[in-house]
Amino acid sequence: MLWNQFRALKPQVRPAGLGRQADYPPGVNECFFACQNPAHPLSLLRRDRLVHISLPNEPWAALYNAFPVEKDGHFLWVPVAIDAAKTGYPHWLQILTKPFVEDFLALGKATSAALTLFNSLHAGASVNHIHFHTVARRGGVPIEHASAVAVGPYHLLENYPAMGLLYEEPVDLDAVWKAIDTLQRQAIPLNLIYTERRLHLFARDIHHEMIEEFPGGVMACMELSGRLITTEEHFYANADQQLLSRAFRKITLGREALLKALG
Ligand SMILES: [Zn+2]
Repeated sequence: MLWNQFRALKPQVRPAGLGRQADYPPGVNECFFACQNPAHPLSLLRRDRLVHISLPNEPWAALYNAFPVEKDGHFLWVPVAIDAAKTGYPHWLQILTKPFVEDFLALGKATSAALTLFNSLHAGASVNHIHFHTVARRGGVPIEHASAVAVGPYHLLENYPAMGLLYEEPVDLDAVWKAIDTLQRQAIPLNLIYTERRLHLFARDIHHEMIEEFPGGVMACMELSGRLITTEEHFYANADQQLLSRAFRKITLGREALLKALG
């Protein structure tokens, strides 16, 4: 577990209490990446690009995260528009489309030495502008050891405290997109974690976005992977397996609710 005080400086809307949090506005002028405003000190337009990668649908740029969760490496990926005159970042919302999912899977497969992550709105995303994360794996994360049981067309995680779906390589884009689209249409938040050769999909209980077991922030991909990031010293000192299990059960849809949501 990591205690990351630096991340407490992150300029996000402070949680307003337990349960569902306020929506992030979709407007470009409210974009926390200040994607069209180079005058803002944290604007994407002022950050150095590390690399471009051409994924099946868009070119994506990797940028340093202004507020890293891992000192060994934490990058943001955003679609980039490149022409001879200048670089720009189209203000697309943090909502998945099938092309974005296809790009996510390609990125996850291409960077199998790292974790590739997507947090939706109300599931840990703090910016309403499409972005993925790459975080160093450093010897692996607990979720890589979770097994799964087949239930109809799905593989449900078992012996892991959070309920979720598992897709192993070769990951079937159509199947993953169908599940994601079905959840998004019901406004069910979700997280994607791509580890070496497998994708995990978590459907979230929006009414347990902020929970008392995890004060100070919304649990997101890193927490669900089993590597906890917290800025709260008290939590760091007191977290135990029982508390984490309770937290994970709260934030994710349980087996019956998940199967029902998937139809
Ligand atoms: Zn933006």
